[in-house]
Amino acid sequence: MKQRPSFPARLDSGKTQAVPKTLLGATRVLTPQSPARAKPVAMTSPTGVGLESSTIRARMVKKLMDQGVDDAWVLDAMGRVERHRFVDSALVNQAYEDTSLPIGLGQTISKPNVVARMIALLRAAPGLKGEAMMGRVLEIGTGCGYQAAVLSCLAREVYSIERLRGLHDKARENLRPLRLANVHLIFGDGMLGYPQGAPYSAIISAAGGEHVPQAWVDQLAMGGRLVAPTQTASGQQALVVIDKTPQGLEKTLLEAVNFVPLKSGIA
Ligand code: SAH
Repeated sequence: MKQRPSFPARLDSGKTQAVPKTLLGATRVLTPQSPARAKPVAMTSPTGVGLESSTIRARMVKKLMDQGVDDAWVLDAMGRVERHRFVDSALVNQAYEDTSLPIGLGQTISKPNVVARMIALLRAAPGLKGEAMMGRVLEIGTGCGYQAAVLSCLAREVYSIERLRGLHDKARENLRPLRLANVHLIFGDGMLGYPQGAPYSAIISAAGGEHVPQAWVDQLAMGGRLVAPTQTASGQQALVVIDKTPQGLEKTLLEAVNFVPLKSGIA
């Protein structure tokens, strides 16, 4: 049993619908004191570590804003999901730094900035037409489950697939206390996507391969958007955005990134 500090604050799926509509587009006024993020949390003591955790998270959100993340809904979700619950107890002190951290089996939890950036890209899909919630989302590479928890605030259903049994189990354990009814964890090879949940309005990969697998494109809904790390012509890794439109696929290559490799099969 891992030792966790007893942060009492909880993310539960009931609260995820409660982001006020007025928050939409109101990124400028979203400060750490914003009532939009001041969710009622079950604090046992106002001076406990729980309060400290939300303060540190608010600081992380402020930094994300400074770095250019301007989607208020994404910032809200990043402010609510307790990242420290997803890292090893020895790394809890670094949980809110803008860095990737080891989660075991040679894999890493992505940097908060990268998580926020990729989800903001998904939400900016023209096909989403500014709707608050995404429909069904497929995540490839559950890892420790952190990004799946963030996605659960912003999508109706989240299907997250992981090829390493040890991490699939770890994510299940990390997510269990949060009781996120809209997150479905799957153990399997994400290179094949997950046809049972298709079509997806959004697909996000936390692992980068040479190509974007055709199965992902096939399982993307019309008007849907896929964001993934992929190899560029120069052999580097960069983010690619693929929009499925009635006119065909629209691909946009963005900034260089550094994700763990996308591998086939399960282990
Ligand atoms: N989203 C995760 C990041 C995990 S790192 C988080 O929030 O922590 C990327 C993960 O992708 C690793 O756990 C790795 O095992 C997984 N992965 C790589 N190839 C995969 C594949 N084909 N199918 C499913 N998962 C894969």
